Amino acid sequence: MLSRVSSTRSVAQMVKQVAGRCTVLNVGVGINARNIGSSLWSNKNKHAQPTSFLRRSKIMAVPHIIQQQEHKFNEGKQYHGFECIRVESVPEFGIMSYTFRHVGSGTELWYLDRKDSNNVFSINFRTTPFDSTGLPHILEHSVLCGSQKYPVRDPFFKMLNRSVATFMNAMTGPDYTMYPFSTMNETDFRNLQKIYLDAVFRPNLEYLDFLQEGWRLEHSNINDKSSEYVLKGVVYNEMKGAFSENGSVFSQNLLNNLLPDHTYGFVSGGNPLEIPKLTHKNLVDFHSKYYHPSNARIYTYGNFDLRRTLDYVNNEYMSKYNAIDNSYSRIPNQPRWDKPRNVHISSRFDNMGAPFEKQNQIGIALLMSDVTDTQETFVLHVLSELLVRGPNSSFYRSLIEPNFSGGYNQATGYDPQIKDTFFCVGLQDLRVEDFARVQELYDKTIKQVMSEGFELSHVESVLHNIELLLKHQSPQFGMGLLFNSTPLWNHDGDVVSSLRVSNMIANFRHNLAKDPKYLQHKVEQYFATNSHRLTLTMSPDDHYEDNFKTAELDLLKQKIMALDDKKRVEVYENGIKLDQAQKGHPNLEILPCLDLSDVQKMPKMPSIEVLRICSVPTQVCHVHTNDISYLKLHFNGANLNHDEVMLVPLFCDVINDMGTNNYNFREFDKLVLSKTAGIDFKLHFAENIYDSKSYLLGVYMTTHALDKNAAEMFELSTELLTKFKLEDTDRLSMLIDNYISNISVGIASSGHLYAMQSCAGLITNAAKLKSHLAGVEHIEFMKTYVKQNKTEEIRAKLKTLGQKLFVKNVMRCALNTSEEFYPSLTKYYEQFLENMPNDPQSKKNAEHSISLLEPSQQHFVMNIPVNYCAKAFFAVPYTHRDHPTLRVLAKLISAKYLLPVVREQNGAYGAGARIGSDGIFSFFSYRDPNSTKTLEAFNNTYNWLQEHNTELTEQALFEAKLGVLQQLDAPIAPGNVGIDFFLYGVSQEMFANYRARMLSTSVDELKQVVERYFKNEPAHFGSCLLGPENKDLEATTNLKWKVIS
Ligand SMILES: [Zn+2]
Repeated sequence: MLSRVSSTRSVAQMVKQVAGRCTVLNVGVGINARNIGSSLWSNKNKHAQPTSFLRRSKIMAVPHIIQQQEHKFNEGKQYHGFECIRVESVPEFGIMSYTFRHVGSGTELWYLDRKDSNNVFSINFRTTPFDSTGLPHILEHSVLCGSQKYPVRDPFFKMLNRSVATFMNAMTGPDYTMYPFSTMNETDFRNLQKIYLDAVFRPNLEYLDFLQEGWRLEHSNINDKSSEYVLKGVVYNEMKGAFSENGSVFSQNLLNNLLPDHTYGFVSGGNPLEIPKLTHKNLVDFHSKYYHPSNARIYTYGNFDLRRTLDYVNNEYMSKYNAIDNSYSRIPNQPRWDKPRNVHISSRFDNMGAPFEKQNQIGIALLMSDVTDTQETFVLHVLSELLVRGPNSSFYRSLIEPNFSGGYNQATGYDPQIKDTFFCVGLQDLRVEDFARVQELYDKTIKQVMSEGFELSHVESVLHNIELLLKHQSPQFGMGLLFNSTPLWNHDGDVVSSLRVSNMIANFRHNLAKDPKYLQHKVEQYFATNSHRLTLTMSPDDHYEDNFKTAELDLLKQKIMALDDKKRVEVYENGIKLDQAQKGHPNLEILPCLDLSDVQKMPKMPSIEVLRICSVPTQVCHVHTNDISYLKLHFNGANLNHDEVMLVPLFCDVINDMGTNNYNFREFDKLVLSKTAGIDFKLHFAENIYDSKSYLLGVYMTTHALDKNAAEMFELSTELLTKFKLEDTDRLSMLIDNYISNISVGIASSGHLYAMQSCAGLITNAAKLKSHLAGVEHIEFMKTYVKQNKTEEIRAKLKTLGQKLFVKNVMRCALNTSEEFYPSLTKYYEQFLENMPNDPQSKKNAEHSISLLEPSQQHFVMNIPVNYCAKAFFAVPYTHRDHPTLRVLAKLISAKYLLPVVREQNGAYGAGARIGSDGIFSFFSYRDPNSTKTLEAFNNTYNWLQEHNTELTEQALFEAKLGVLQQLDAPIAPGNVGIDFFLYGVSQEMFANYRARMLSTSVDELKQVVERYFKNEPAHFGSCLLGPENKDLEATTNLKWKVIS
């Protein structure tokens, strides 16, 4: 249901909860990857999101629509074995919804017809594990390892390079497994459909796949029978990595302990110490039970012909099955407790986080309504927003403002994704002594809410935000609907009705009008008198890592003890067999692939106009924005001194949270949320794309509003930019504490990005500054800075910073709006500009020069069981003719060399290479059990390319180009059209040339580039390692390493 899109738990967060597969480890590359130049974590990290799963960068140009469509299918009729059982339109999204049931097998198929070219297809199964061996997760990996029609190793991975998918992945949730993809190309859509269907319904599930993806015992040197045994496996390592983030440990335990009596009591992704109990037979049995078409749901969205899909699915698969009763996978409601429970767990000490004695977490969680009661889950979502979000919310006032913690933890919010939905409010970075205080404050807050209720204007601002989100065209609309509907659909909920958010809002308003105490009664029911309440506390334990290692060693010993002579021979032989299979050359010809003609045409782009309005450079894009106007402002930081520059990220985090001369912070927040989607600030950093010899640094402000609120959007922006107030030092001090707690969250889950950023910082002074502003170095910098400077001093500096920054002379603007609304918008815009101060003294532009640094290496010691390795060197900037060729080469190296060696053979979860618009070429690994071995693999790239010269074929080259195209042609949201030009100066013409040059790259050119950039050790390079203490580093690499712990 769409309210979930607006929920504090967005799609990305939901995917975090999913144990998941990070098969597509997308690291944005080049200009059209938005993570360049901006902060690694979002400006408002109050609900931090993972970066590893979803493609973060651009996503789709969304449909404009919205007229009534005619019915393409009729209720009661059969189409290719599928009976159409329900047809309904959802006018708010321009959707015609068709529900089908396959007559023979009972499979449900849901089609959302919408004029959107970014089509989606997904097959979902309800999977309910009854142990923590990671069965559904390992199965999800294994079915993608080869099927009847496509008996090649890992066709899924191979298809990554033969497609222009805008999304491709597979995920395991607590009670479902899903296989979704999206693409704008119909040939591609049909190709991927074939691969996905065959994978899930007819996988080979070979024993060797189980050993590779699940777990195995192996000799550390596979050719040496006398070498010691080790435990290996992709999921085994993945889950070790997943639980190296304390936030994941907390969330997993919260779920397991709040709903302990059925499937939610287990770890669906797999507990590393339980995974080695799984057998190959368990896997095959689980597949035949849960992957039956009667237990499957197929989702498809977009404008491609559904009949072809129905025909194919029916002919090839569904017609071969008879329906079975699928009630075995239904999940009962959790029996309610008659009294609250408390659970305490321990965690790893995060040496980058808060001091040991402050590194505790607490969460108070309550079980709520059934997920299928969609009106009720909507009300609970609104209630959750009122209780936890922003400075007007009840728990913010009672738990956050007294400032005894580092703010909300990641589990905070309403979670409508499992059978019984739940709410949690939690704090991070607090002292054990404060646990009791939290419980008291919690009870007091609930009592107070029950007696006083909520301010109506606060309720209205929450509803406004939901309405605005409905209008806002998100780039992956079809995929967003899938993610949000799956949890409900999985429990046989009414997904079509759940899309009618306007109805739910109307019902809500009606109930509130009828009974002014409506919300208070809900608070009483779900909070005050709810005895199904869990208080989960978590504290760091110095022995956590050692305890895990001991347990892992014991497990290994048990496994070895159980080996008889015959088994020993088997282990040895399997090690060799798997190694040979991994190094083999499968016949990929049987896999479908696109042709050059399928992709040559460039997607159409709306034109961009650049004007000067009241002397301010203004970029205008006329796009179909669905009655929303988008405003982006850029303030050049040319007048800031070094001290001020270092405070820009903090400034961006606090400036919209402190109030203005006319409104205190609560009033201002309420006003902003009742008229706009919020006003956000971000650090912006851009290297010169022509020569990489200079860079610009500034602040980037974004906001959007319904056209009818555009005047207020500008008024509120003026209020904030010209009358911001930083007087309240107590509040500032609290915001700073929360900021510092939040920046250290999420390093372990995006370690590859941090490692690459830090590595780039060893090559140029600009990248070094960037890493100190947005990388792992920023954490230490901020901690020290706050220790050495009083809040009063910081306050004064931030104030000067804002005064220097928010002036008209250094400002640029981008407006995205519809043609019809443009005249009105300009009127407001001109008024806004008139109110902006001018500072005749200020420099308009100052480019800082970039210098190259001497080669060096650094190691950040982190208390985690996996490594993130990176190596980088300076190549050429974006506009150099070799840049697109290097980008193709990076894809080729990733697919043909790094993934097979670093992932498949050496057990890292991910690996790859990329070149950024700043001209820095990087290698990286993700959740890697190795360190020096991987760095050696990076160094060996040239030799590998020489030895595998014959593999640099036209086909390999074409696949690499498709990989680049997936990034270049990824659709863009209407609100973001023109952003590459606005932020980085990449014009559409420049982009078209770049794309053409990339597509025309020949094998010979590729080989020349290899010689030019890889043969000799580059003059400017660096290596970076994030991971546990590593005593052999210098000896093994023969290099000097700076160790930072
Ligand atoms: Zn996985």
